[in-house]
Amino acid sequence: MAQTQQDVLNASKEQCIFCKIISGDISAAKIYEDDKVFAFLDINPVNAGHTLVVPKDHYIVLPQLPDDLAMHLIKVVKYLSGAIFEMTGAHGINIYQNNGAAAGQEVPHVHFHIIPRRQDDNAMSPWNRSKIDPEQLKQIAEEMGKNLKPISSSTVKLSSNTSVSKKTSKPKRKGKPVKVKRRNSTNSP
Ligand SMILES: [Zn+2]
Repeated sequence: MAQTQQDVLNASKEQCIFCKIISGDISAAKIYEDDKVFAFLDINPVNAGHTLVVPKDHYIVLPQLPDDLAMHLIKVVKYLSGAIFEMTGAHGINIYQNNGAAAGQEVPHVHFHIIPRRQDDNAMSPWNRSKIDPEQLKQIAEEMGKNLKPISSSTVKLSSNTSVSKKTSKPKRKGKPVKVKRRNSTNSP
């Protein structure tokens, strides 16, 4: 029998450490809760005050969220990022949201990181950014734009390339991947 989207969600929910934190089966340093969203301190913080914000319902990646939940979640992230700025006296804040193991997602439950930063704390590695020909940039934008459908309230199906398990084999790509020349960079993201 083919696995439905719901089967995938149910299976990953049973193993989910964030669902166990939300239900109280695993304790966590909670800093905020409402009927849809839960926020707690990361147990391996980049800096003190590093907070995780999660929807109470189990979804694996951001594109799966219903729009109303996504909007509320972002609203809470915005509110908490302002509060954390004040509470920690941070000079800056990073908001990180990783989708899929390839992007660094470790827990298969949608979450935002709010990370307070200090000037020159060197707490996170700089991005490895690239140079690209302006013509190529234009072509990529046209190609991507052509494939964009109007925003609707429907949720997006997980692509077979999306995985939060590091054991899976290399994802297969459809079509030609976009190639850009890499260069070493010491610039901050
Ligand atoms: Zn979960």
